Amino acid sequence: MCGIAAYLGQKQAYPILINLLKRLEYRGYDSAGLALLHNNKIKIYKETGAIEQIEASLQGKDTSGLIGLGHTRWATHGPATQINAHPHHSQDQHLTLVHNGTVTNYYKLKVLLKDNHYSFYSDTDSEVLVNYIDFIQKTEEPNLLKTLTKVALNIEGRSAFVIHDQNFPEQLIAFNAGGELYI
Ligand code: GLU
Repeated sequence: MCGIAAYLGQKQAYPILINLLKRLEYRGYDSAGLALLHNNKIKIYKETGAIEQIEASLQGKDTSGLIGLGHTRWATHGPATQINAHPHHSQDQHLTLVHNGTVTNYYKLKVLLKDNHYSFYSDTDSEVLVNYIDFIQKTEEPNLLKTLTKVALNIEGRSAFVIHDQNFPEQLIAFNAGGELYI
């Protein structure tokens, strides 16, 4: 069972996210990652193995940001690789997501997205999910919250996720579609 963590506020997100992810370690995981919003740009960092790997890779680097997403992954779709670790982003990179659970009809959605000129860098159902959200947002419903309500009707399995939309940089949406989410 993976863990998702998110922070938006007046403090630096990075140490808070690392602390939250460490508190979720007992659930088990195979890789970890986080995204930080700084100067209106999202930067994604991810590693296989323990959360300490992320800390080591970010040692001495600028981790500023008041908004961030974190994830410890328990792989269900695709092996435990750096590329499959979360956060995942939409093809145009305006949406960033950390996902807990599974989208069991992901393959059907992936075919639909490929038919609509989406391509994929990972094996995960989560990358399909973030691009499906992007697709519905662009073709049917620009409001992200309404998009998510539509998406929830078309995804199968149990999912909970937190998503950031670059077009509304100062907000995070946590969404539960039958998964586990405690706020
Ligand atoms: N199904 C997703 C994946 O394989 C999320 C797994 C999880 O809950 O950690 O990346």
